[in-house]
Amino acid sequence: MSDQEFKRALGYANSAFDLLKRSGIPPYPQFYELLYTYATGVNPSLNSRINNIFRSGNSPSESLAESLYNEFLKSDVNDRMTEVSQRMHDRIDAVHDAIDSAMTTANAYSGSLQSASGDLGRTISVPAMKALSEKLLAETRNMQDTNRSLELKLQASRDDIAALQRDLDDVRRESMLDPLTKISNRKSFDEGLEAAIAEASVGRDPLCLLLLDIDHFKNFNDSYGHQTGDQVLRLVAMTLKSNIKGKDLAARYGGEEFVAILPHTDIDGAVIVAENIRRAIQAKELLKRSTNEKLGRITASFGIAVFRSSDTAASLIERADRCLYAAKHAGRNRVTTEHDLVNAMAPVKKAGATAA
Ligand code: GH3
Ligand code: MG
Ligand code: MG
Repeated sequence: MSDQEFKRALGYANSAFDLLKRSGIPPYPQFYELLYTYATGVNPSLNSRINNIFRSGNSPSESLAESLYNEFLKSDVNDRMTEVSQRMHDRIDAVHDAIDSAMTTANAYSGSLQSASGDLGRTISVPAMKALSEKLLAETRNMQDTNRSLELKLQASRDDIAALQRDLDDVRRESMLDPLTKISNRKSFDEGLEAAIAEASVGRDPLCLLLLDIDHFKNFNDSYGHQTGDQVLRLVAMTLKSNIKGKDLAARYGGEEFVAILPHTDIDGAVIVAENIRRAIQAKELLKRSTNEKLGRITASFGIAVFRSSDTAASLIERADRCLYAAKHAGRNRVTTEHDLVNAMAPVKKAGATAA
């Protein structure tokens, strides 16, 4: 984490604490997360709801904070994970109960067999023999019924556990996706980047990181509303995804920023990918779905960094971010690589100058 990023995060944290204190909301983790998210402004719909509360002269109460948290931040994935794990526990308990009851019956049966073999060792009368064989027959039937019922319960559990396994796989897949754009989320990006760096560190293949930020997106939201803004985020995500391939990974980095990990790709290749995406975004004429109103076009700026053997994920991201910042500074709607930065900073050689 760079100094600048640290200070920014600390600023958000302080402002979240201030709001908690001012509104008398208990500083529980979920309320802190809510107001931290508010402070960052990454969730415009949440911010506009909280701003309306402030505007009306109130401050959010604990119960309001709770319902905002449930609406905006509480993850479905967590709920589903809890539900699947509860069902898994119930299933396991049911299997244990079925096995326990089968074992009790089996123990009783084995006790009866033992006592019968003791009786048979002695000379017994014919009626006693008859009574004993009837008793054994009944208990054998009972044992058979218990086994049959155990078999059925185990079969049902097997089917249920297979269904649970599928649900769990779905939940796991979903937990790696950004709910709005359905491309990979920050968590899968972090994991993907660690893996790509590990691979690039041992091999000789280059690895590039591409960072994309939509230009003047705040203006777009202010003009056309957040829901239309969300549509644009989906469109950019799809454009990004359809322009990469193979082992590349496209993810939403946060807000209106996206990222692509490009393994086995040198900087020239990465520039081609970025230019394709840049042109495709710029080419799309945006229409408001509900009214078919023309909304014009949007553009995006790109930063590209190339992996160095001394890099960590953070240092690679930081360089891509610096390039992105330079692209914004140079007028937006462009691709800037770290080579461009080096060239821009290199002293201009005077004609006829000789090396010392
Ligand atoms: P720049 O060209 O410098 O990047 O300008 P910008 O307006 O895009 O950048 P800024 O960081 O000032 O604003 C980013 C805006 O992105 C703020 C917010 O309105 C919007 N945004 C972030 N996340 C979302 C989201 O999930 N949905 C919508 N609709 N808008 C979002
Ligand atoms: Mg941004
Ligand atoms: Mg932007």
